Amino acid sequence: MRTNLEYPVSQPCLSDKERLLVNGALLNNELTYGYMARSFESQLAEYLRVKHVLVTSSGTTALHLVLAAMGIGPGDEVLVPDLTFVATANAVLYCGATPVLVDVHPKTWCMDPAEARRKITDRTAAIIPVHLYGNPCEMVSFLNMGVPIVEDAAEGFTGSYRGKMLGAIGEAGTFSFYGNKIMTTGEGGAVCTNNDDLAARMFLLRGQAIDPNRRYYHSEVGFNYRMTDIQAAIGLGQMTHLTSMVDRRRKIIHDYASRLGYHVCAPCVRPDIQHAPWLFTFQLNRGVNRENLMQRLIQRGIETRPTFVPLHRLPMFRGCDAEFPNACAVGDRGLSLPTYPQLTDGDVEHICDVVEHELRRSA
Ligand SMILES: *Cc1c(COP(=O)(O)O)cnc(C)c1O
Repeated sequence: MRTNLEYPVSQPCLSDKERLLVNGALLNNELTYGYMARSFESQLAEYLRVKHVLVTSSGTTALHLVLAAMGIGPGDEVLVPDLTFVATANAVLYCGATPVLVDVHPKTWCMDPAEARRKITDRTAAIIPVHLYGNPCEMVSFLNMGVPIVEDAAEGFTGSYRGKMLGAIGEAGTFSFYGNKIMTTGEGGAVCTNNDDLAARMFLLRGQAIDPNRRYYHSEVGFNYRMTDIQAAIGLGQMTHLTSMVDRRRKIIHDYASRLGYHVCAPCVRPDIQHAPWLFTFQLNRGVNRENLMQRLIQRGIETRPTFVPLHRLPMFRGCDAEFPNACAVGDRGLSLPTYPQLTDGDVEHICDVVEHELRRSA
């Protein structure tokens, strides 16, 4: 089907450092959670300026781990944005709790604080704002709601909000290092917190709740959500050139935005916030046939990606479109363009030329 795919929507950006460090893990003869994983955790903690980081097998398991460690379970409600990757809400279901969907704000595409406030009940045990496409949520509003905040910063790694790193603002924050994220370990994730007790609970649950003093005694049901040293070695390699990767992504997103000039979400920049340059994503005008456009772009070698299907339309959540007008508008008309550090200025210009040409044709 994909003929001549010159520009995938994303791809990892690996250097010799990753190869050297993976080789190092092999030479250490340490493949499971070991030296590399612990070093990766301390480097992440320093970068995020938090006390504790635990690396995990994925962003999804990081989310489940923190909710489980917070004791969230049946009868609890957790607020989740209607527009996000499904993992955010699945993690709530894994705990036996109820995800309560909240519409997004049309400017940030992130959970609307006013809508969230309306949906808080005496059963609300947590709120999970998601920094969608790297765009920071309006965190001050959430922090004043009297409910623990768990940031899903899977797409927000390297962004900041009023001097704090995204993910390091709430009670806890989670990250994903899946292959298409800003930084990757193939599969992998992390959770961070400044709360000592929560970190200790997560440490216990991540390793099957094995009693540190009594071998093979498990006081409760835990998980195996650890990261391997091979993955951590890739992550440590990525950290060595993170700044240049992020600067390049920022430039690409900036160029797309200034050139295409549509309602663009990702570079919603204010002096006090810095978006995380994940995928350049914009909203098509009403009447543009997205499927059609995507097909014509792929024929020209340009892969694109539609925005997430609003969760209320999935069989396990359900709800009506009228309750989530903003999530529907972005979900139905959003499109992500190729965003990865290896794109040159010329590539970005070429992609813009083709997109503009195809948009004119469909107008
Ligand atoms: C990628 C992603 C996740 C899950 O990460 P995995 O590492 O794929 O499990 C969770 N939430 C959001 C918003 C994501 O984009």
